[in-house]
Amino acid sequence: MTAASPWSGLRAELDEREAAGLTRRRRLVEGVQQPDLMVDGSPMLSFCSNDYLGLASHPDLIAALHLASQQAGVGSGASHLITGHHRLHHELEEALASFVGLPRALMFSTGYMANLGVVTALMGRDDAIFADRLNHASLNDAAVLSRATLHRFPHNDVDALAGLLAASKAKRKLVIVDAVFSMDGDLAPLPQLLEVCERHDAWLMLDDAHGFGVLGSGGRGVLEHFGVSSPRIIYMATLGKAAGVFGAFVAGEPELIEYLLQKSRPYIYTTAMPPALAGALLAALPLIGEHGSQRRQQLQSLITALREGLHLQRWQLDPSSTPIQPLIIGSNDEAVAASEHLRERGVLVPAIRPPTVPQGTARLRISLSAAHRHEDIQHLIEVLHSAEKDLAA
Ligand SMILES: *Cc1c(COP(=O)(O)O)cnc(C)c1O
Repeated sequence: MTAASPWSGLRAELDEREAAGLTRRRRLVEGVQQPDLMVDGSPMLSFCSNDYLGLASHPDLIAALHLASQQAGVGSGASHLITGHHRLHHELEEALASFVGLPRALMFSTGYMANLGVVTALMGRDDAIFADRLNHASLNDAAVLSRATLHRFPHNDVDALAGLLAASKAKRKLVIVDAVFSMDGDLAPLPQLLEVCERHDAWLMLDDAHGFGVLGSGGRGVLEHFGVSSPRIIYMATLGKAAGVFGAFVAGEPELIEYLLQKSRPYIYTTAMPPALAGALLAALPLIGEHGSQRRQQLQSLITALREGLHLQRWQLDPSSTPIQPLIIGSNDEAVAASEHLRERGVLVPAIRPPTVPQGTARLRISLSAAHRHEDIQHLIEVLHSAEKDLAA
């Protein structure tokens, strides 16, 4: 008698996904990360990257990474609390805290780990988390792992949040939002959220993955954009998007940061990221900050060109002033067909479907970079117009 494969249950699930057209496939990229991208062996014009300032292949960062790896080697060898905490990590933490204008910062290997690390260290069974419905998946995972009660409020609905906070008897209350929502490109109403958090004595955690480097005249992110500051803010940003490298950090009051250093498991029980990456990030900060305004101006002028140049009949570009431009198509099949139409013409824009976005709002998620040229935007506009016309039939 031959036994069934120990994986036959998984095979059946994979086959079901395939039949429903939901199988996900990775594209093979070669060469450097930039708008002109070699993908699956073909040259494509990409509107998929989070490299908003075009720093991911900047020569200064490549040189800094090279130099730092000569000085510090490749691996960090241990976790931060053993012997993995290199002078380059330490200098970067100090530079990041001062860059965003907060007292102290702590590095994490990724944004996913930073979100897990903050929420699970601070929150437990007797506590409550209040999260925007459109928050990033890592924040929802973090809330579940913390065992705190999770309340999700309608997107950017500050009154609904205030109602939930008023009714809560939890010991500690933590409000969490994406500062820039990753599938919509719109901003959280930070001043109003802060006011509600103050009224109900809640902490406010901001995930600025898409704002750091992009928002504010100095690229310092959402706090600079709104000109707000408060000791109850827990600020998290990632370093693999606009900063062009890898990693993440959390910044805030000294007690908060020291507590995370002592208690955050995704900080403690993992190997420190290679110190040479911290060296590259130290070189990235001036390119984001004092030398970044030209890149941000280029980005803004590309955003304006796209928004003014698109004149579609059925598909709608939702309001967004950030490099994330959501073109709402509606039906899943049409969104996929639109993405495919573009791909056949050498333009890469991902179709985003439920459950990543709400039912009936399947979309093309266009993301722009300062590394795009104006002719790239004109080309995108042309292929989008032809796609809408072709798919109407
Ligand atoms: C990308 C992203 C993360 C995860 O950051 P990584 O460094 O890629 O792990 C967290 N939150 C948001 C909103 C993101 O867009």
